[in-house]
Amino acid sequence: MKTILTGIRSNSVMTLGNYLGAMIPMVRLANKYSVTGEYQVNIFVPDLHSIISEIDGDLQENTMRTLKSYLAAGLVVNDNVHLYRQSRVPAHSEMCWLFNCVATTGELSRMIQYKEKSEGKESCNVGIFDYPVLMAADILLYSASYIPLGEDQFQHIELTRDIATRFNHRFQTDILTVPEKTAEQVKFMGEKNGVRIRDLTNPEKKMSKSTRSENSKIMMDDTPEAAVKKIMSATTDSVGIVHYDLWAQPGISNLLMIEALVNDRPIEEVAEQWLGATRYGDLKRAVAASVEKELTKFQERLGEIADEEIFSLLEAGERYANEVANQKLHQVQECFGLR
Ligand code: ATP
Ligand code: MG
Repeated sequence: MKTILTGIRSNSVMTLGNYLGAMIPMVRLANKYSVTGEYQVNIFVPDLHSIISEIDGDLQENTMRTLKSYLAAGLVVNDNVHLYRQSRVPAHSEMCWLFNCVATTGELSRMIQYKEKSEGKESCNVGIFDYPVLMAADILLYSASYIPLGEDQFQHIELTRDIATRFNHRFQTDILTVPEKTAEQVKFMGEKNGVRIRDLTNPEKKMSKSTRSENSKIMMDDTPEAAVKKIMSATTDSVGIVHYDLWAQPGISNLLMIEALVNDRPIEEVAEQWLGATRYGDLKRAVAASVEKELTKFQERLGEIADEEIFSLLEAGERYANEVANQKLHQVQECFGLR
């Protein structure tokens, strides 16, 4: 059975961009493939990755909220879906060390994320440099084939493939499953992957939770009324006619994209419906109503999920994860002569 693996860092509340661009597509994928019995779906909270940077709020609370968010977003947990916290599976950090002895400083220095995160700094914590190796451990411990991720992480998948290939070659073994190439990952994830929700006030940029301006982003814990206001004051353009064109009309196109994703409709259909409309206010009102409805529904569901439900899912998930991960760790330790 193949494995799909995914995680979202819980450093703060999600934005609508994280929700529509990462969580919802993952939930749909998980629901689709776990029921057929073709795939194991591992959904984990990468809390060891969280601590390489600042945490907004309390890590435990954020972790619980993220896990509940998957359920609120519609995740159906069956025997093939496993929820776990990375730090509760010690094999991750152990395996990371072993892979540190396979990865090279040269390749890690070339990681764009590292360059970006350390830019202008004389020195940064080693975790920022090394976390792609931890990612390789996260993936290879479970022999995952598919890892739905944003394009900003593709380089790390390639690194994981390199580490696995090098390890297998060095020890003349095939115990590490090399994950699929990024092109295959994209195909598997489908067209909805790679969508970028734009910043509401500056639609040239993507919506990011770390952007300071509050009006630029919708947070998943915003009141629905606040979200409506933000949509209504979103930056558009002076063209005066609705046309889906991310380059010429990024603000308008972003609104159309949000409308499509929230209602799970093809972007082509939504773009066609609004094509040629001349009153931007009408489009904004429609999008605002959709977002208001989605946020209300999401927040209601989130509030209904008890901590106990999550703890019981984690108990089963972490038992499974430890079992699978420890087996793989043991095999790798044997190769190194440690067992
Ligand atoms: P930060 O500003 O701290 O980088 P972020 O909002 O970019 O935060 P990440 O934690 O970097 O969020 O990303 C979490 C997931 O959400 C990733 O899979 C990423 O590809 C996806 N994602 C982030 N921003 C958007 C966006 N604007 N539209 C769609 N998907 C997004
Ligand atoms: Mg980001």
